[in-house]
Amino acid sequence: MARTARRAGQSRQDVTTPNGRRSRAAARPADDGRATHDEAAYPRLTARFWGVRGSHPAPFATGSRFGGNTACVELRFGRHLLIFDAGSGIVGLGDALAREWHDRSPAARPTLTLLFTHAHHDHLCGLPFFAPLFEPGADVHLVGPDLAGLRFEQIVAGYMRTPYFPVDFYDLPSRRHLRSISDGARLVWTADGDSPVTVPQDASIPPDALVVDVLHTQLHPREGTLVYRATGGGRSLVFATDVEVGERGGAGERRFVRFVRGADVLVHDAQYSDEDYDGATPHRGFGHSTPAMAARVARAAEVDRLILFHHDPNYPDADVLALERAARQLFPRTWAAREGGEIWLDGQEERHV
Ligand SMILES: [Zn+2]
Ligand SMILES: [Zn+2]
Repeated sequence: MARTARRAGQSRQDVTTPNGRRSRAAARPADDGRATHDEAAYPRLTARFWGVRGSHPAPFATGSRFGGNTACVELRFGRHLLIFDAGSGIVGLGDALAREWHDRSPAARPTLTLLFTHAHHDHLCGLPFFAPLFEPGADVHLVGPDLAGLRFEQIVAGYMRTPYFPVDFYDLPSRRHLRSISDGARLVWTADGDSPVTVPQDASIPPDALVVDVLHTQLHPREGTLVYRATGGGRSLVFATDVEVGERGGAGERRFVRFVRGADVLVHDAQYSDEDYDGATPHRGFGHSTPAMAARVARAAEVDRLILFHHDPNYPDADVLALERAARQLFPRTWAAREGGEIWLDGQEERHV
């Protein structure tokens, strides 16, 4: 118990693994055995990547090892399904959910919550094509930051309206539930709850709940981004995209590292090679990190596993593989995120992609 409480780090929540065991984060390829897990015996926290590129989709990379869609990560725990960002990758996820759910009543499906880090195009562009929004009676929770003087609801609704899109957000047949969140928020999905609830940091948390903590960083231009830390069954995953971690540190960066501390999996922005970051046409200050920067955060925060994310849309597989190799020199348990890749954090056994 003490160990799992410590692993929860600064989130200080009272959680433990259902079987009391502890092992390292487990990862395995997609389409490999989801059905073998006995969900009734214990919940498993899993993440699946549907889009791993940054800036804009990379059609040339469709079918490549890493894929060409922009940011979208699915996370499941028990009967809850979370989606981090709605880049172009969410289109394929929505279609997969429509197939998975077509013969299930809404009550028999997982709850569905979309969490947004910020509103840049590469994190929103798939939303108008997300199938569950068009399904009568489907409940879709949308959570994200207020930005640039706009409420989160205005940001989302403004993205799906004429002249940008033919269907108005307010005319969709689904039921949408929107919520603004900000730094320090804690969202909880209880085992039998139908929607997330916001609780104070010192509230007691049922051990079988899914928890998401929120950090607002200023490590990205203009409005910054939200970083999310999801914890379920004593395991945790941090989603930290669109962050630029400078070499000089600073209070904001130290706060970020504290937030990440002890996570089982850190998904971290690693868009640029050292050459592009600091070379002839420098990308310093664009709000993105190099794999070396991400590896430094992983080491400082003592995470178990680092996943490089937000790959530059101009990098072919060979470039991303080279960045992955270089990052492993600094932090051995590093992988570059790829479309279709899945991470299991079930505490039962160790597997690798
Ligand atoms: Zn981005
Ligand atoms: Zn951005």
